[in-house]
Amino acid sequence: MSRPRIVIVGAGFAGLTTARRLCRLARGAAEIVLVNPTDYFLYVPLLPEVATGILEPRRVALPLTGTLPGVRLVLGEADAIDLDRHRVGWTDPEGNHRALGYDRLVLAVGSVNKLLPIPGVVEHAHGFRGMPEALYLRDHITRQIELADATDDGRERAARCTFVVVGAGYTGTEVAAHGQLFTDALARRHPRLDGGERPRWLLLDLAPRVLPELHPRMSQTASRVLARRGVEVLTGTSVAEATKDGVRLTDDRFVPTRSLIWCVGARPDPLVADLGLATEKGRLIVDEYLNVPGHPEVFACGDAAAVPDPARPGEIAPMTAQHAVRQGRAAAHNIAASHGHGTRRPYTHRDLGFVVDLGGTQAAANPFKVPLSGLAAGAVTRGYHLLAMPGNRVRVAVDWLFDALLPRQGVQLGLVRAHAVPLEHTAPEVPAPPPAGEAGEGNSGEDSPP
Ligand SMILES: Cc1cc2nc3c(=O)[nH]c(=O)nc-3n(C[C@H](O)[C@H](O)[C@H](O)COP(=O)(O)OP(=O)(O)OC[C@H]3O[C@@H](n4cnc5c(N)ncnc54)[C@H](O)[C@@H]3O)c2cc1C
Repeated sequence: MSRPRIVIVGAGFAGLTTARRLCRLARGAAEIVLVNPTDYFLYVPLLPEVATGILEPRRVALPLTGTLPGVRLVLGEADAIDLDRHRVGWTDPEGNHRALGYDRLVLAVGSVNKLLPIPGVVEHAHGFRGMPEALYLRDHITRQIELADATDDGRERAARCTFVVVGAGYTGTEVAAHGQLFTDALARRHPRLDGGERPRWLLLDLAPRVLPELHPRMSQTASRVLARRGVEVLTGTSVAEATKDGVRLTDDRFVPTRSLIWCVGARPDPLVADLGLATEKGRLIVDEYLNVPGHPEVFACGDAAAVPDPARPGEIAPMTAQHAVRQGRAAAHNIAASHGHGTRRPYTHRDLGFVVDLGGTQAAANPFKVPLSGLAAGAVTRGYHLLAMPGNRVRVAVDWLFDALLPRQGVQLGLVRAHAVPLEHTAPEVPAPPPAGEAGEGNSGEDSPP
């Protein structure tokens, strides 16, 4: 008798966990196929440290091959799902289209940058969701400081030394907090900037406080650290318009800048919208067993799924790695149950708290609801990440040690160009192809808008 085939689309927090758990439960009784555009799992929470030169990119890119015995990895982006014929179609990195049948399907495709209809933002802002964006940002920041040092025009220098982050959730707060330390360190190495005005970081949000989705104590800690560091936090404020010379804020002020970093949140991967299934806030509706109603063979979890939140009846679980991992586990268990191994269980979740790394020795954390700040929070935050990462722990710890002992490397490789990371890109995990008419090879380090 042939083994049932379980196809998992997406090898992020949810998909990787589903694959691992299924392997253990199935013990070879099922064929498990994992479809993902990259050959690595991306540990997204440490991306701000990649963008600001603390961690080398491969530290947060954990190889899928070799770590998932018994799982067949298919390199490609799923782009055609036939729910009636139970088939998944995908395109591999060389543009070949292929398809595969399934007995069970798990959709764990995550999320992409959220867009808002603000003039100029799509053209002039860059998001922060994938590895290409983090690499682009690291180079871009370094380049702005170098060009600021090179110019004799005071206004240009000020604009190049001004960085605007929109969205004071955990992503934007971490980017701004780390960013200020990074640019201070870079500026110290440029004789014409050293001793002059410090690089300026602005963090904007329409909400009345930073980290609006987290406990107010964490918010106070983050505000204190940002203020001490000189980051200008503008609450109740957003961007009204973006141009190539700067941004007009909603209070009508104009801020000259070449750097608009878009951290307003995430929306589910567009693959979900194309399925013709019911969604909530763009996320695929599933029941408490992670099952898509009307399709007992289809499951969804992570950012792409609207999973009922057991802790807040009537609401869906927030988009966090913690939820994605636990949902992945529950999906695996319930798929096994659907094949007669055990009984299915509804999704439950115990809140373990949250950590926000603010750079240096600072962090805001509330493990098991105990609010921490300063060194204790910093230690808990790093410890948490080391435990939560599925691998590369020694390499990450060594990078942290080097960062504590040595100056940060201020070089830009310029391998990811601006057009490769457009804000509206639907696959932030891979660089976008060059626009029609532009050569794909070579690199001028160009930094024009996408
Ligand atoms: C900068 C940043 C910091 C964060 N920090 C934290 C934190 O500290 N704690 C926390 O709990 N959460 C954090 N989050 C949120 C957390 O990263 C997400 O909630 C989590 O990644 C969701 O897991 P997922 O498996 O649903 O999606 P992902 O981890 O994004 O994985 C989705 C996978 O699907 C793949 N994929 C997408 N489309 C396709 C397709 N068509 N075909 C095949 N594969 C596809 C992607 O390549 C990816 O591998 C952070 C997010 C960001 C952006």
